[in-house]
Amino acid sequence: MSKGTVSINAENIMPVIKQWLYSDKDIFMRELISNGCDAISKFRWLVNNGQAESDGEEDRIEVITDKEKGTLTFIDNGIGMTEDEIVKYIAQVAFSGATDFITKYTEDSKDEGAGIIGHFGLGFYSAFMVSDKVVIDSKSYTDAPAVRWTSEDGMEYEIEPSDRTARGTAITLYIDDADKEFLNLWTLRATLEKHCAFMPVPIYVTEIKPEEEKKAEDVKEGEEPPKQEEPKPINDIHPLWMKRPNECTDEEYKEFYRKVFNDYDEPLFWIHLNAEYPFNLKGILYFPRIKNEFSASEGVIKLYNNQVFVADNIKEVIPEFLLLLKGCIDCPDLPLNVSRSFLQNDGYVKKMAAYITRKVADRLVTEFNTRREDYQRYWDDIHPFVKYGCIKDDKFYDRVKKALIYKTTGGEYVTLEEYLNKNCGDEENKTVYYASDEKRQAQMIKLYNDQGKDVILLNTLIDNNFISFLEYTERDGKVSFKRVDAAADSLTEEGEVSEEARAKLEGLFRKAMGDEGVEVALKPFKDDALIAMITVDEQNRRFTEMSSRWGGMDMKLPEKRTLVLNDKHPLVKWLQSAGDDDHTVALCAQVADLAEMARQPLVADRMVEFLRRSNQLLTEMVVK
Ligand code: ADP
Repeated sequence: MSKGTVSINAENIMPVIKQWLYSDKDIFMRELISNGCDAISKFRWLVNNGQAESDGEEDRIEVITDKEKGTLTFIDNGIGMTEDEIVKYIAQVAFSGATDFITKYTEDSKDEGAGIIGHFGLGFYSAFMVSDKVVIDSKSYTDAPAVRWTSEDGMEYEIEPSDRTARGTAITLYIDDADKEFLNLWTLRATLEKHCAFMPVPIYVTEIKPEEEKKAEDVKEGEEPPKQEEPKPINDIHPLWMKRPNECTDEEYKEFYRKVFNDYDEPLFWIHLNAEYPFNLKGILYFPRIKNEFSASEGVIKLYNNQVFVADNIKEVIPEFLLLLKGCIDCPDLPLNVSRSFLQNDGYVKKMAAYITRKVADRLVTEFNTRREDYQRYWDDIHPFVKYGCIKDDKFYDRVKKALIYKTTGGEYVTLEEYLNKNCGDEENKTVYYASDEKRQAQMIKLYNDQGKDVILLNTLIDNNFISFLEYTERDGKVSFKRVDAAADSLTEEGEVSEEARAKLEGLFRKAMGDEGVEVALKPFKDDALIAMITVDEQNRRFTEMSSRWGGMDMKLPEKRTLVLNDKHPLVKWLQSAGDDDHTVALCAQVADLAEMARQPLVADRMVEFLRRSNQLLTEMVVK
């Protein structure tokens, strides 16, 4: 038997590994199993290149849990290691990169996550996060004798002959007290499913049952023995994304989605990425059915490196807005185990992110061009994501621009161009009218519809930002968006009104409404029957809404409101020459309340007062 110490830096490293990865402990399984997969593919390579004999054995990895012994064993039938190799790869090389690791390890790089550990050749050592002792039994594919390496702390080890006869490596972890849960068959399976669901070699899980349990299950004489089920690997070694798109059926895509994302709602549609040049990149991105705007943030994009799960939602590779989608992306060429700051600055990664974005945009445009009806049906689900993408990424906007549609209150879907052509003719400044609440703004919507103008619906959180973005980006086209209560322009006529009459009315309404900063204007309306309306300055309102929503500002800017009175209406004409007695003031208050109600419900106190006053005015009509 020989003894040794892993490396001079080991004392520094083990505590770091243990502490750093504390929250992500279960990745030791990924590390050990992907080492096993590597060892198997190395052996395959030797066989394919005539440097080793195949024994016809099927590639496999076995994970055995033995609660009684407290061990978890990972066995592969890969290339195996000789004594020299164990010393070289496990004991020395493992830590050569680790000096860097220690140097780079600072408090603020903590969030770089577990991905880093593989890069520094520490993968195997993650076993010590959960073990009191680790034993490697390995038999090289060569004639070298089998060898056993044992270490209790990852720092000092012993080497002795092993009784292993089969080619490959068995790594036995003596699980420490704090981590006994990993011996539990259910936890073990769940962890393997999380990290190893698509590893390229079949993984079988076996539970060694304690003697007593076994006895209880022993078949009594004369009874049929229970049928042994054919053992099934826990993983899918041929994930759908590795297949060619033209070989996959819709049912397969849906089934894959259900299985991987546990989402029983069908995806709306999907994109199968399959590029070999300029990137080696495969994957499937699904557009999920979004139940509401907030559930949109629940997307998840799983990143793989040659079928080995790396992490969910790596922002550096997948543009942030695409994280609203669900999918799997496999990039074998990407240095996924390096630090995130490296990924952020890597040109290759940037190009790849741009490629994915482009594919998504192109797909949307194709849907729009070739299946517009279906696309319109999806639109309600996907538009927050598309709009978010436009704001975040100019290039994405440029590509999907043509496929952006708007739902009108009449239930039609139109592009901006279609809207402008129909509603604005050759006006120089083009206005798109929108409603943010179809029910509350029904009266205002009707006024526009009566004038032959369509109103579109913009009722999600992102819309405010989105239209401001559009107005800015499309400023050459002089397009602006106005909520139906924002401007009276298209509801009023040109024409002089008397300032004296306006001032008189202002006085009356001030008295009725109190001095709450509402301006009073007088204009002839196109609609003769309408007495008055309230308009709210668009930009001012948007700004207030945005700052209270996103900025968490307590200070609420007052809305800039104007009460516009219809100069053509008989009641308004009558008021112009009325006195300022209580009855007249009550009428003015009533007019102002009705105008307010046309755009939004009255606040509680005002509603109470409105009802009281309505009763009073009705009574006055008959009882003087
Ligand atoms: P990495 O896998 O990042 O190189 P590890 O610490 O996980 O770092 O492993 C170090 C080396 O030990 C591997 O590169 C490989 O040569 C060897 N090794 C680890 N596990 C196995 C195994 N199951 N079979 C054969 N060789 C292995």
